[in-house]
Order: sequence, then structure tokens, then C-alpha cells
Amino acid sequence: MSAVPDVIELLSDHIANQIAAGEVIQRPASAVKELLENAIDAGATEIQLVIKDAGKELLQVIDNGCGMSPTDARMSFERHATSKIRNINDLFSIRTMGFRGEALASVAAVAQVEMKTRKQDSEIGSQIIIEGTQVKSQEACATAPGTNIMIKNLFYNVPARRHFLKSNTTEFRHIVDEFTRVALAHPQVAFKLWNNGAEQFHLEAGNLKTRIVGLLGHSYEKNLVPVEERTDLLNITGFIGKPEAAARTRGMQFFFINNRFIRNPYLHHAVVNAYEGLIEKEAFPFYVLFLEVDPARVDVNVHPTKQEVKFEDDRLMYTYLNAAVKHALARYNIAPSLDFTLSPEIQQLSSVQLPVTHEQKQDTEKGYLYNTFTNKNQAHFAEKKDSLKQWKELYQIAQTIPSVPSPDYTEQAAPTLLVQHDTQPSGSSHNILLVQGSMLLTTVKSGLMLIHIRRAQERIWYERLLQEWNDGQTASQQLLFPLSYELPPQDALLLTEALPDLARMGFDISPFGQYTFVVQGVPTSLPAGEERNVLDEVVEQLKHESGDAVAKRSETLVANMARRLSRNINAMMQPEAQQALIDELFACTQPEYAPDGRRVFTMIRKEELDNMLG
Ligand code: ADP
Ligand code: MG
Repeated sequence: MSAVPDVIELLSDHIANQIAAGEVIQRPASAVKELLENAIDAGATEIQLVIKDAGKELLQVIDNGCGMSPTDARMSFERHATSKIRNINDLFSIRTMGFRGEALASVAAVAQVEMKTRKQDSEIGSQIIIEGTQVKSQEACATAPGTNIMIKNLFYNVPARRHFLKSNTTEFRHIVDEFTRVALAHPQVAFKLWNNGAEQFHLEAGNLKTRIVGLLGHSYEKNLVPVEERTDLLNITGFIGKPEAAARTRGMQFFFINNRFIRNPYLHHAVVNAYEGLIEKEAFPFYVLFLEVDPARVDVNVHPTKQEVKFEDDRLMYTYLNAAVKHALARYNIAPSLDFTLSPEIQQLSSVQLPVTHEQKQDTEKGYLYNTFTNKNQAHFAEKKDSLKQWKELYQIAQTIPSVPSPDYTEQAAPTLLVQHDTQPSGSSHNILLVQGSMLLTTVKSGLMLIHIRRAQERIWYERLLQEWNDGQTASQQLLFPLSYELPPQDALLLTEALPDLARMGFDISPFGQYTFVVQGVPTSLPAGEERNVLDEVVEQLKHESGDAVAKRSETLVANMARRLSRNINAMMQPEAQQALIDELFACTQPEYAPDGRRVFTMIRKEELDNMLG
């Protein structure tokens, strides 16, 4: 009997490395993160990041850190080569740092790498060239102390991965995101970022405040409220934004646990909740918060690219964080001081009882949270008092939106109604009833029709704006006082790209300086004072736009605008306005559905009415 051939073979190192590399280096931004962290670990005080073609052509990091000896330079590209773990205990104590010794090996497996490095106390440096894990050459060279590493043609040997990369705008945005996080976590280090030859960021060494302003723009300066709390469980420091700075845009929220960036929806909620009543529901407060905890109490998922963490006591974390933010807002007279109610259940938690060092204890006892919770023997459970409610009114943003437009549709082709003709409202203005301020009830031949006012408005605006868009003639009105609109760099890039589309919608916006725009004209239909809000929403939309969504951008923009314009339920008090709304709705090509697909109206047929009465 002929033997069935054995089929298992060991993957070559090269393939194995490539597979492992896929875990660590998913896109140019992941390589950037690793290289920047290495430079920080090397004790650099100045770091330059050079990007070409969104990192596809070149990613370069130049640091003035400790540098490497020629042997270390060679070793650093071996898998599991690290100077940062000496024994198994190290492994546990630094588990917050993810995998060790993988990054350079991974990069070397999927790119052409050229590195020059020189130890601070060496006369001469060493240059090493690697391609697909193979060392091509290593020789002595002249170079500044520190390390200068170039990653060229990332994924050149993994076409599938390269093909998978998003547009340059998107990939560069990810790079800026990583750069921003590292730069925020290390304000004492100077950074520069060059993109295709242009200096995009120039950040001097400084403190967190100057760093935030350097990264996110001067508009943040006057809006920053410091947070500083020390407790036995954790220290919370950083800045939050004043409520009026809360943009309708995500992304300006940063948590760092033990100086490492993380995402955590639960903690995010703790912050947002502290703003309750101070900002609009859709708004996101700005924050850059550093939480310092005993690493033994945090379980960072050991995957290096994961930014998720688990805590031993997440409820307690939530409560502390929430109270810290409330306290910061109160101290700056943004919200009233708060009282806290007792929750013995939390008082029992081991973490509250755990012994702390004398030094920690002293620190803690000076802190506000300690005094609120521990001294007064109150709970770690904060509950807001009614007094906060009155602040709600104070900060509520007035909505001044004109009544529904009266498009001139006499010239338009007869609308193709999706509803049966006999369901069309009969037209007399006396049989319309405003129901609960949000719906209209009217009689039609076959029964009753219930119309959702807001959705009807959205549909009307949507079709009107879309028509204008298609005709390429959205009316634009010049602003009396041009608006300056500042964005964080990564968002500025997106907006710049979308300017032609926005121009078609009637927005006259031009770049002004690096991350600032001047808004000179807006669509005529846009109510005064809403300009910034609409632009915030547009930027938010652009951020979440996937490849194929770009094609539908106009529709989404239009739907967004329509939603923005459809908030004037009050105008519906007038019978004429009610009638006009119904007329306009049924002049639409698709009166049945709002742009987001929800039903605009429903019918209650005569038979059903009869049945109801038995
Ligand atoms: P890790 O950072 O987890 O140790 P890496 O693969 O990122 O693994 O780096 C391997 C080793 O190379 C590091 O432990 C460090 O000794 C050395 N190294 C990497 N980058 C630098 C740098 N910019 N300056 C000095 N040494 C570096
Ligand atoms: Mg590393």
C-alpha cells in the first residue's frame, strides 16, 4: 500500500513573519505608532515623523534617543528581540504594553527598511538595510546620535494587504490620529510631522495645555477646564472642554490609562453624563484625561493593536471619573457644586478599603473626591441634585428656524404619488388637527391620515434641496460677517477635500491658513446661527464616510441639511401652515418616507374605524 504522503510542513520564517506582521502592522498608522513608541522608549526628547504618500511610500521616524549598537541594530529586527523584558516578572508588570519585541520584526517582514542608528556615546553609527526580513547590508556610517528609521513601500510584498488600504486621506488621517495620541501622552517631547514635504505639525516641548493647543488649534485654549483629582484608587488629570465648546463631532475625546491611549465607551459615558443638562444631546464634550491606576488592576487586552481595557472595579472608576468631571465643571462655575448620596454597597468594595501607602494617603486626603466620599463617609455614588436642572435652560440652544418653505411646484411635472389617489387629503383647512404637538390628523376620502410633522418637513426639504443640487443651482447667500471655522488638522483635510461638493450645496468656503476656513456664503435656506452646527455635522459625516459612501455624499449631505432644517414644529400651530405642509408633502415624489426611511404618515381606514366602534 502506497503511503499517503505527509502533508504538514513548517511555514518558512518568512511566511510566518508575514502572518505575524499582519497582526501588528495593519496599516501605515500601526507602523507609525510602533516607531513613535520606540523613540519614546529610547528616551528621545525630539522626534520627527516624515510621511510620503500617506505612508505607502515612506514612513520615517528620526529621534535623538539612546540609539543602538551595531549588534543591537541587527538584533532589533529579530522576532521577540527586545531590551524591555529580562524575566517573566517583567512580562507581567508591563502587560499594559502589549506584545514585546514584535514591532520591528513585523515591519521588516512587510517593507523595505533602512535604519541608521548611533549610541549617544559612540563616535560612529551603523546603517542597516533590510528587505523582506533579509539583512541586505550593514555598515558603519556617519549619523547623528539617536535612531533614524525609514520604512519604504510598506506591504510591497503583500499585494492583498496593500490593495486593502483606504484612500490616502483616510490612511493619513489614521496616521495623524496615532501621532496625536502619542504627542498628547508626551507633551515634554518635541514633535514634528512632515507630510509630502510640508510641515504639518511643529510641537515644542511643553505642558499638556500647550500640547493640546498645538495639536488641536488655538480655539481650544480658552475652552479648557483642568481636571485634577487624586484618590486611593486612581489619579485623574487632564483637561475637559467647556460645554459651549462641545462640538457635534466625535474624535476629540482621549483617555489615557497609565499614559497609554485607550477607548472605553463606559468611561466615555461617565464623562458625557457629567455634562448632562449642559450640552445638547448630540454634542460630544472635548476631553483629554489621564487615569493613573495600579497596573495590577487594569487588564489591557494583550493584543498590541487593541485599545480596549478592563478594570477590576469599573463601576467605581465610572463614579470617580464622573464626579471628577462634575467637580471640574463646578469649580469653574460651569455647573453648580454637587452633593453626593450614600451608597453603602460601594463603600464595601475592597478597593475602597485597600491599604495605601502613606504618601498616597496624604495625596488622597487633600483631594476633593476623598473629602466628598470618604471623609463625609459618603458613597462613591454620585447623584445629581435637582439644582442642575435649572442649568439646563441656561444652556439650551435656542432653535430659530423659519417655517416650511413653499416651493413653487406649479412648473414641475405632476408628482407621481405612491399613495392611492383616494388617500390624498381632501384639502379643506378646517379638518386638520394638531396631535400632541408633533402630528397632524386629517380626514381623507377613505378614512383618517396621521402625519408625522418633522418627517414630513424632512421629506419636503430633502426633495427640494436634492432638486437644487441636481440642477446645480443651490441658492447661496453671502454672510454679512464671514465666519472663521477652525478644525483639528485631520478634519481640516477632510473638509478641504469636500469643498467642491459643499460649494455645489451653496457653501462658499475657502481655506485660510492651515486648519482654518473662512465661510463666506451658505445655502439660502440655512437659518442664521446654524452655520457652524451644520458644518460640524458635515465634518462628522465625512469622518464616517466609507469608500462607496463618497458616491452618495450629496444625498447624505442633503439629508443632513433637511434634518437640520426640519425642527420647527412650532410653526405648525397655524392652520395655514398645516395645510401648506400637507400640500407640499403630497407634491413630493415619495411622500411616504422620510429620507432615513421612516414612515411619514399612516392611514386609518374607514373600515378600521368602524371596527373600533364594534
Ligand atoms: P519592543 O519595543 O517591544 O522591545 P520592537 O520590535 O519595537 O520591540 O523593538 C525591538 C528593540 O529594538 C527594542 O527593545 C529596543 O531595544 C530597540 N529599538 C527599537 N527602536 C529603537 C529606537 N528608536 N531607539 C533605540 N532602540 C530602539
Ligand atoms: Mg516597540
